[in-house]
Amino acid sequence: MTTSLAEQTALITGASRGIGKAIAEKLAAKGAQVAIASTSMEGAAKTAAEIQERFGVKAIGYAANVADAAAADQLVAAVLHDFGRLDILVNNAGITRDNLLVRMSEQDWDAVIGVNLKGAFNCMKAAAKAMMKARFGRIVNIASVVGLTGNAGQANYAAAKAGLIGLSKTVAKELASRNVTVNVVAPGYVETDMTAALPEAARAALLPLIPLGRTAQPEEIAGAVAFLAGPEAAYITGQVLCVDGGMAM
Ligand code: NAP
Repeated sequence: MTTSLAEQTALITGASRGIGKAIAEKLAAKGAQVAIASTSMEGAAKTAAEIQERFGVKAIGYAANVADAAAADQLVAAVLHDFGRLDILVNNAGITRDNLLVRMSEQDWDAVIGVNLKGAFNCMKAAAKAMMKARFGRIVNIASVVGLTGNAGQANYAAAKAGLIGLSKTVAKELASRNVTVNVVAPGYVETDMTAALPEAARAALLPLIPLGRTAQPEEIAGAVAFLAGPEAAYITGQVLCVDGGMAM
């Protein structure tokens, strides 16, 4: 059984920036080879080149819209071709299209469900065969605390993240006999491009809801992902780990 991250290949979706980039850096720092995917080839290739230079591991960027099943299949096939193996899959790609229920368009509902929920389904389905054959796999899905609590203005996003938790537990049960674990990290409020778009008043209103009294940096989410992808979490599957400063306790 492979146990060291240094022998492994990790595919991280949405890794050109933000939390995904921090996850790729953390896994690379532990010696893993990393496949960096985002819709923008330029962003993915830039991050991969930076990681290769900084950590001395093989890193390749890929352009793929995970909401598209054929693109997810091609992404996984390309990673298997380029690295010869796929041990860790982190489904991190995500978008927001916030609005109140009565104002939310069908397009915004479909877009968020498409990337945040169907994207993870597409990538897990594409990766499962190789992991089952290898009798080894570590899948970590990035949900959100709002998938547990709900959040006004985020019907699409909260539904996608709650769905992702149910999907993860189901796949955890289906793949456990092949030594493939599936776990979820549910971040709270993390400083990235996604949250930078929030108006100052909304940011200020959030702080009192965080018991630890501060927002998180992407690296703090990456640490939990590296744990769940690593050898010390070999007996953990189907779990949701909130990394949220205490928001959802
Ligand atoms: P971000 O800074 O907006 O980055 C999102 C990443 O996903 C980018 O690399 C983006 O690259 C990629 N992406 C977007 N759509 C994609 C698609 N269809 N296919 C492939 N890649 C795609 O977001 P973040 O804050 O780091 O969030 C990362 C994950 O954490 C998301 O799932 C998010 O829901 C979750 N999360 C974030 C927070 C937070 O406070 N920031 C809290 C809880 C959960 P391109 O634009 O080039 O495609």
